Amino acid sequence: MTTVKSSSIGYPRIGEKREWKKALEKFWKGASTEAELLAETKALRLDGLRKQQEKGIDLIPVGDFSLYDHVLDTSIMFGVVPERFLTTDEESALETYFAVARGSKNAIASEMTKWFNTNYHYIVPELNEITPILKENRPLAFYKEAKEELGIEGKPVLLGPATFLKLGKGYAEEDFSILLKKFLPLYIQVLQELQEAGVQWVQVDEPIFGKSLTKEDISLIRQVYVAINEAVPGIKLILQTYFETVDCYEELVNFPVAAIGLDFVHGDTLPLLSQYGFPENKVLAAGVIDGRNVWRADLEKKLGLLEAIQLYVDKERIIVQPSCSLQHVPVTKRSEETLNPILQDALSFADEKLEEVVALVKGLQGGEEQIATELKASKQSIDNLNSSKYRQSPVSENGAEQLSANRSLPFSERIIEQREVLQLPLLPTTTIGSLPQTAEVRQQRSKWRKGDITGGEYEQFIQHEIKKWIEIQEEIGLDVLVHGEFERTDMVEYFGEKLNGFEVTKFGWVQSYGSRCVKPPLICGDVSFDKPMTIKESVYAQSLTEKKVKGMLTGPVTILNWSFVRDGIPRFDVLNQIALALRHEIEELEKNNITVIQVDEPALREGLPLSRDKWEDYLHAAVYSFKLATASVQNSTQIHTHMCYSDFKDIFDAISGLDADVISIETSRSHGDLISTFEANTYDKEIGLGVYDIHSPRVPSKEEIKGNIDRALKTIPANQFWINPDCGLKTRQEPETIAALQLMVEAAKEVREEQ
Ligand code: GLN
Ligand code: ZN
Repeated sequence: MTTVKSSSIGYPRIGEKREWKKALEKFWKGASTEAELLAETKALRLDGLRKQQEKGIDLIPVGDFSLYDHVLDTSIMFGVVPERFLTTDEESALETYFAVARGSKNAIASEMTKWFNTNYHYIVPELNEITPILKENRPLAFYKEAKEELGIEGKPVLLGPATFLKLGKGYAEEDFSILLKKFLPLYIQVLQELQEAGVQWVQVDEPIFGKSLTKEDISLIRQVYVAINEAVPGIKLILQTYFETVDCYEELVNFPVAAIGLDFVHGDTLPLLSQYGFPENKVLAAGVIDGRNVWRADLEKKLGLLEAIQLYVDKERIIVQPSCSLQHVPVTKRSEETLNPILQDALSFADEKLEEVVALVKGLQGGEEQIATELKASKQSIDNLNSSKYRQSPVSENGAEQLSANRSLPFSERIIEQREVLQLPLLPTTTIGSLPQTAEVRQQRSKWRKGDITGGEYEQFIQHEIKKWIEIQEEIGLDVLVHGEFERTDMVEYFGEKLNGFEVTKFGWVQSYGSRCVKPPLICGDVSFDKPMTIKESVYAQSLTEKKVKGMLTGPVTILNWSFVRDGIPRFDVLNQIALALRHEIEELEKNNITVIQVDEPALREGLPLSRDKWEDYLHAAVYSFKLATASVQNSTQIHTHMCYSDFKDIFDAISGLDADVISIETSRSHGDLISTFEANTYDKEIGLGVYDIHSPRVPSKEEIKGNIDRALKTIPANQFWINPDCGLKTRQEPETIAALQLMVEAAKEVREEQ
């Protein structure tokens, strides 16, 4: 009898109730010992393995668990620890590990950046002048643990050499081949030891194949896999890709490995099979259940997809699995009892996705009748959602097309009107929006959520904070003020709670970076404006001062990218629905005399598709939605936007195309780089390059700030330049924030006088 296998690529680390986060933070505070941390996290890890075992997954991943980040785990395994962390102090290996991730008293942390097109951040390997060595065979240790503790014949997971090195920094592009050669023997050793221990399957993660690689890189990577195959011919490698269709399908499927793992959810993978076929001697690990989203799969369609795959690959050579690690979705929907039952029923988090995988295997193996109940339940839940209240208020289909997405005057003309209204000095100063969210702010919010204080009392408290900070900002002498965003826990969730078409979960957490988890809202229906979302706070703040207070909104692209978006209609349609709802809010703000309005888009860049071919469509949609949201204001109303990243050389036209009157960008960590972009391109609108880093409690010196301003003014004309910190100040303490802003304003005054 042929057997189709089920597999999982990775399982969430954080636990159903974020136990992982709590264990880590307790340890970092010194409230638990290393042994306690290891014991608590081991229990969590085994719990995850046990669940996968109980659900009947054949190939259970081991070694995907991490105490911080799997890329950092790989660096540490190969002895890649930047020199600045090597201290003479007595330090355990775990302390060094956390020091690289979080910084220590002697050394600043390694850089952290987004993992492909997700909101998960990894620690960037620093590969300059290293001599890697195998410190510990991590996958082997986890393989043994799963076998001994639970009798699981696990599938060790290893971050592949091409992806690991491409994600690292500190070497010139042409040295990629030298590094591959340095790491090859170590990978071979890891795999040999796994083979000796009796391991059958190994999952080697190479998501880098979703990106556009050069012919030369592909050939270099191929050589590595050829060498591995010669050295360890007995081990069965699954070369695992995800997040996107691979760019070089033809080459990749002919790599000398036992199996290729492909994502059949994102991008068009099936046509590649029909066009190029699939080698007869290989296994196909087919990612058919969406690992990036939370909606229940239409099992009938998925079975159809697997049947279509079967035209090119025999059944016994198919492994059924999610499209990527399940770390990008919450653990289980079981705890979401407070959600509308129709909605809860239509969800599928990690645990439920594993059940879907197992059902599909059964269906593929024994025919549809085998899973009649599951098919019926899946269809029913999707039908229920489609006919529910969430889907009953369709926004006029082509509403977006009938509205203008262009301001009525070009920037060069409307800025004249704006300057007249705003009467700002040269080099105006402002902040990015949020002000310190003290323990008290968080406490009051939690009291209000629990019902310990009334809505009225909470509102009064927020007003009190706004008033206090309007006074502080006036005293400091900032030119354009903010209300401080005290009422928001999260810049996306806040709007999710207020717009139609959204729901928020209670425990739907996913890891963002380190111990920090985020709870993306669910876009479950048609998005539309319900009631004003930001008016009360903005109007109140404006009533307290003669200066302008900026209205503050999160932009459509960021709301989309940081939510779980509904299935069934194109993402870009959802994007435009959000834009239209924001347009309404912006018009309300304007009616209430808020004439400077900031629409933040920090997630614009991270949403770029992996493959360059798809950038244009995405950027076009992103720019259109931003303009749709902001274009209806009067010419004298000034639209600001903010982005956290600084690297925008390659998307300069899109950024400029947003047509925001003022843009603020985070730069203090890469000043030189960003300014050079302006030398090459002429940006004609106003711009604020962050003049100090807000990510650390350190108060910058005035000279440092002035230095940053002076450097920028060498390239950007003074009458186009704004002075602001890098990003929001939410995570900072009050005293350091006030001190830094005072220095920033003084620096601005001094530079102004020199003009
Ligand atoms: N206005 C937001 C704030 O100041 C922007 C946050 C962000 O860029 N991520 O917090
Ligand atoms: Zn920012």
